Amino acid sequence: MSFRVGIGWDRHRLQAGSGIRLAGKRIPSEVEAIGHSDADAALHAVIDAQLGAAGLGDIGKHFPPEEERWADVDSVDLLGKATEKVRANGWQTVNLDLIISLEEIKLNPHREEMKKKLEEEVSAAEAINLKFKTGEGLGPVGRGEAVEARAVVLMKET
Ligand code: MG
Repeated sequence: MSFRVGIGWDRHRLQAGSGIRLAGKRIPSEVEAIGHSDADAALHAVIDAQLGAAGLGDIGKHFPPEEERWADVDSVDLLGKATEKVRANGWQTVNLDLIISLEEIKLNPHREEMKKKLEEEVSAAEAINLKFKTGEGLGPVGRGEAVEARAVVLMKET
């Protein structure tokens, strides 16, 4: 059986707002993330990790930001589409490890809902792990200017 790993990273700028989308869940906050779609950095990192493991390029290749149809799109839909593409190429996610980096906003209360959303869209139900970090006051995350996400997936050939 053949296995492959994939890595994904994303960052979105923050501005004053009323909520931030992460892993398909709206987290009430004093900020929002700026982006062409719903700016869900967590899901964008997961999509890139999956596409990477399957050797299918990146999110920009499949959902070009210059194409109007992807404007304000729900990233849950993008993840569903990406998972389908990966599956169609003969790959299934074994496990996903995801790190979300964000200053000040407490994500722990939302962990289970975020995990559930990922389980629905990525077929690795028992093997999805979420980690929440801060920027320790350093860099764009630490200054509250950005949200970042890093994802690693292992995929097996079906
Ligand atoms: Mg993005």
